[in-house]
Amino acid sequence: MPLCELIQKAQKTVQHTLDDLLIDGPMSNFAELQQQSAALGITVVNISNPDHPLIYVNDNFLRITEYERDEVIGQNCRFLQGAGTDQGARHRIGSAIAERRSLNLTIMNYRRNGQEFWNSLSLIPARSRAHDAEYYVGLQFDASAMLAEHRLLAFLKDATRQPDSDELHRLSFTDHVTGLLNRHTFFERLALRGTETPGAILLIDIDGFSNINDTFGHEFGDRVLKVAGQRISYALRNGDMVARIAADQFAVLLRPDTDVANEAEAISERVARSIAPPITLGETQCRVTASVGIARFPEDGVGASGIVRNAEMALHRAKNWGGGSVVMYELNFRREQTERHRIALELREALKEKRIQVHMQPQIHLETGELYGFEALVRWPQPDGSYRAPGEFVPIAEDMGLIDMLGSYVVIRSFEFISDYNSKAEKPVSVAINVSADQMRDMAFANWIVAEIGRFGINPELVTIELTENILIDRLLNDIMENIQELNRFGVRVALDDFGTGWASLSHLQRFPIDYIKIDRSFVTQLENGDDAICRAVIDIAETMGKGVIAEGVETKEQLAALQNLGCQYVQGFLFGKPMHCDEVPDWLANYEAERAQLFA
Ligand code: C2E
Ligand code: CA
Ligand code: CA
Repeated sequence: MPLCELIQKAQKTVQHTLDDLLIDGPMSNFAELQQQSAALGITVVNISNPDHPLIYVNDNFLRITEYERDEVIGQNCRFLQGAGTDQGARHRIGSAIAERRSLNLTIMNYRRNGQEFWNSLSLIPARSRAHDAEYYVGLQFDASAMLAEHRLLAFLKDATRQPDSDELHRLSFTDHVTGLLNRHTFFERLALRGTETPGAILLIDIDGFSNINDTFGHEFGDRVLKVAGQRISYALRNGDMVARIAADQFAVLLRPDTDVANEAEAISERVARSIAPPITLGETQCRVTASVGIARFPEDGVGASGIVRNAEMALHRAKNWGGGSVVMYELNFRREQTERHRIALELREALKEKRIQVHMQPQIHLETGELYGFEALVRWPQPDGSYRAPGEFVPIAEDMGLIDMLGSYVVIRSFEFISDYNSKAEKPVSVAINVSADQMRDMAFANWIVAEIGRFGINPELVTIELTENILIDRLLNDIMENIQELNRFGVRVALDDFGTGWASLSHLQRFPIDYIKIDRSFVTQLENGDDAICRAVIDIAETMGKGVIAEGVETKEQLAALQNLGCQYVQGFLFGKPMHCDEVPDWLANYEAERAQLFA
């Protein structure tokens, strides 16, 4: 048999084995693991063979280690280790495998060219359904940049301490994609230079880089970074220092004699312009833009980390302006930060004094027009009688560590309302509560909700937790998943909010026990122009997958009619009722009952 056919045959057998792989822990099969590990290197080792050969590696692994696939398949993973690899870590790996245990550790490994990197490694035992063989799945994450920063911070804190020569030896100075200095070196040079004498740094970020990677592939992405790095270098002057400090981010330290007030912005504009011409690789060509944030010292502050934070704040604004722009950090950015702190303090007070309100917006059964339940929406009354909208303070509560306090307040108020309402109503109704990612990451969240439901004596099936779809791609997905599963076990419903506006995919819908999908208002608005493609698709998907579907932001009779045609189950929007104070609900209901026949004629 020719060699290539042999290889193909072997690959097929391996794929077949992998499909059958049963993995310990929350992810039970290999396909699922692969889907969840977009950025991780994945390896599979056959430990039934005394040599422990690699039988599978994914592309990320090859990118991290810079090997070719046929150089590593069949090899023992020892080739990743070298002089700097900790003996103790090797030993721990050996004994974990001997005892068929999972293991997480960070270990010094080596790329093909001998460059060191910190491999943050998870080893998970697996076995095959079909064969008796045993395997280990390895997940690799290149943590070099993070650890370098960590060490630098320790170094900055204790500037008198001399890092030992071994430590210095391990830190390589350049970034292997662009050949520029790396993050560590940039911070080190900045610290050595000091921020007491006038100067400035620029942070340069390639706009939409992840799109470029997704659309054109990583090879092209690397090419863009390399070209961008060159162009930035050419746009600078002799003596300016440029480094690549994150995936798609470059930093520049302007040379000491720079007249910052007059030159920093002009240099930044030149850098941003220099990136603009098309970049090509083979047949592929694309244009990119870059955003630049500038921070000056010492007038805007001193200390390397403070200056970098200032530049990040400026960059963030440049990004918010749609990219391609240059923003100089201003002291009023700091003032705005202070303002956020002030709002957080006031919010804490308002919560303590129970001045925060939870308003209720009705949700309606589309077929009958009957009341189905309410969505709880938080409101902050102001002295002038107006309300501060949740969009203005929920993100601040999240940033400032107040979201648990706010979130549990909303839950308790909502439960008070619904148990009171249902004790008088002929037909019990449900309540839907918005929960942010920070709350869902708390391992105790589901248990707490369940306990409160018990305390109020509410039927758990009448409680819905609304999650935005971006929660499902969170870093701490396992904790979030456990909370969702726990809620599900107890009968609490879960709705996926703003569906179609974020990153969730059909596979998320399949994988998570989600009961309802909420169609975002932006898609309901499109119904007005006869554009029902997205609503139709979501309703079809929901039906196929056996999930409920709620359209939100319904404002007109035309939208209602279109949703009726499409077979949507529930609706919510100003057409039926705006969010209202709990005390106003009885009056609203009386009114609604009167209008209902006309709306649902
Ligand atoms: P959301 O969950 O998508 O809530 C729906 C938003 O649309 C609400 O805005 C609601 O007042 C508004 N809305 C409802 N029907 C209509 C309509 O027919 N037309 C128009 N133009 N708007 C409509 P709101 O109350 O300002 O809430 C904004 C967001 O704040 C919510 O979006 C939710 O993500 C968040 N939020 C609200 N309350 C809470 C809370 O208690 N906890 C958390 N974590 N987030 C909350
Ligand atoms: Ca919601
Ligand atoms: Ca929504």
